Amino acid sequence: MKTAPGIKQPVPRAGFESLSVYHGVVGPCSIDLSDNTNLWGMPPAASRVLEQFSFADITRYPSAYTAELKESIARYVGTEASMIVTGCGSDDVLDAAIRAFGNPGGRLACCDPTFSMIPVLARLNGLAVVTAPFDESGDISVDSLLSSQPDIIYICSPNNPTGRSASVERIEAVADTFNGLVIIDQAYAEYSATSLTYLATRYTNVLIARTMSKVFGMAGLRVGYAIGNPALVREVEKSRGPYKVGTLGSAAAIAALEHDLPWIKEIVAETLNVRSRFVARLESLGYKPLPSDANFVLLPLSDASVVADRMLAAGIGVRAFPNLTDIGSALRITMGPWRMMEEFLAALGASSQ
Ligand code: PMP
Repeated sequence: MKTAPGIKQPVPRAGFESLSVYHGVVGPCSIDLSDNTNLWGMPPAASRVLEQFSFADITRYPSAYTAELKESIARYVGTEASMIVTGCGSDDVLDAAIRAFGNPGGRLACCDPTFSMIPVLARLNGLAVVTAPFDESGDISVDSLLSSQPDIIYICSPNNPTGRSASVERIEAVADTFNGLVIIDQAYAEYSATSLTYLATRYTNVLIARTMSKVFGMAGLRVGYAIGNPALVREVEKSRGPYKVGTLGSAAAIAALEHDLPWIKEIVAETLNVRSRFVARLESLGYKPLPSDANFVLLPLSDASVVADRMLAAGIGVRAFPNLTDIGSALRITMGPWRMMEEFLAALGASSQ
């Protein structure tokens, strides 16, 4: 757009020219298997809280740092409230942590491929991203994560988009050896057999990021959190600022954590059941899906973008990754109720012909 004479055009910070606003990954569709949210819906006690909410409270600010929600999260993960920081989704917590512990001009090391927002959040905070290859076995490589002398190391386990978990031994080796902040993103923790929250108590430099957006079925309410040493968490809270979790999100999250854990357990069991059935069906059709510890499956395909476009035309949204390091082109498919997976399989058959 041309600027009229006399109108000032402020210049954004260096590096912003190469960043863009986030565009949703798929367009409107009747079955959306693109974003790894809980396709069984919202936990029942959380829904009831929203239905019965007294909107008189909405004129007031929420708690600045969600004191009550932190108590519920702490009970859930088995730690103290002083070890919890919440945020507007775990994206917000990750952003605040990178800003608090990453010096502008410094480096953040992460594996490749990993969660696509991480390079964006690093660059927004003035850090360069150094990617560390996985080793031949597919596990994280401690040496390659440490080699660039970064300010921050980010490990996603189970990893998005591959679904694979890093081994506990390697994660501990990183935390032992590295002096800077180690962020372990466990957005999909509930689906995996390994809980890593004990690391936040054992190591003063480890922050475990988690979310209410995935199995807790509340992506639209934007509630995320992290667990870490109280001194670490305090710095992340400073960086995050007050009032990031709204009154409704906080109330629904508390209800789910206090009353819906048996429901969450059932959803996890059903998701894992669907995942093994889905993988078996794909394998019987000659496909080679990657093993997953999360609520999604990555499926290498020679032309994933074309298949995703055809599927979208048929009303099914899936996320295409055209060129993943060491994997190439692949589709990432969220697990949902079996009837959705059957629709996906039918559309895959039609799209691959
Ligand atoms: N971490 C990972 C690995 C994710 O996949 C996502 C969501 N796609 C997030 C963090 C962010 O989730 P939210 O901000 O909704 O908590």
